[in-house]
Amino acid sequence: NYTLGPSITRWNAKRRQWLSQNPGFPSRDARGSPRILLVTGSSPGPCDNPAGDHYLLKSTKNKIDYCRLHGIEIVHNMVHLDRELSGYWSKLPLLRRLMLSHPEVEWVWWMDSDALFTDMGFEIPLSRYEGSNLVIHGYPELLNNQRSWVYVENQYYLHGFWAGLVDKYEEMMEKHHPGLGDERWPFITHFVGCKPCGSYGDYPVEQCLTGMERAFNFADNQVLRLYGFRHRSLTNPKVKPVANRTASPLVNKEASLKMDAKIET
Ligand code: UDP
Ligand code: MN
Repeated sequence: NYTLGPSITRWNAKRRQWLSQNPGFPSRDARGSPRILLVTGSSPGPCDNPAGDHYLLKSTKNKIDYCRLHGIEIVHNMVHLDRELSGYWSKLPLLRRLMLSHPEVEWVWWMDSDALFTDMGFEIPLSRYEGSNLVIHGYPELLNNQRSWVYVENQYYLHGFWAGLVDKYEEMMEKHHPGLGDERWPFITHFVGCKPCGSYGDYPVEQCLTGMERAFNFADNQVLRLYGFRHRSLTNPKVKPVANRTASPLVNKEASLKMDAKIET
């Protein structure tokens, strides 16, 4: 019988007390939003395939960009905190440790290393989760045995399956704009079954890496346009300036992130 450590009682009360004694660590950010800590991780050693390490770096850059734009702090873990829980299980002792060490944080948000933010303007509708303590993506009919605390989100792509999305980004750019988060402009594209860092996955590695490159550039365009640039295409790391929108240097970041992308394509 395995446990993650001694059980913790009266956490809400203890946390409330800690917050009142530590006003220097407020649970809300400067905008008044609940403080979020995004947590991701990768294996302690290098990838089997060097391209895997390159895509890990891109995936981390993508997360840093999203977090910077939305005032979220980020942790990248590369150690196994518990010898019995390695690989993908290593997130459990890590998340527990972070929750206990950061009582100022309202939400600890795990995101896989093989998942990319593809809607840089979308924000999680946290108010929907007030009173919940765990939010997962899922389909209620597949989760019939859920315990009463499981908020199951399926109204936007908290986890969008890559295979149906990566070929549609150009179409999305023509028809829609960031900020929607759903199938029109997926919030997250997750490369399930790809294992770019490992040696074998469920899909051909070339198909995975091309898909990741497209997802990365699709997202990166949304960041670059804040600074007046865009990728030449979704498969091209080179960039070009966008049509003149730098006349006003102090653009509203939020509005700019959600602006209709059609004008550029
Ligand atoms: N992970 C980690 N340390 C490891 C292996 C995996 O932090 O040693 C994380 C990594 O972010 C990965 C997630 O756990 O995306 C899920 O692991 P899994 O082996 O299922 O890989 P995936 O299918 O997501 O590539
Ligand atoms: Mn994954």
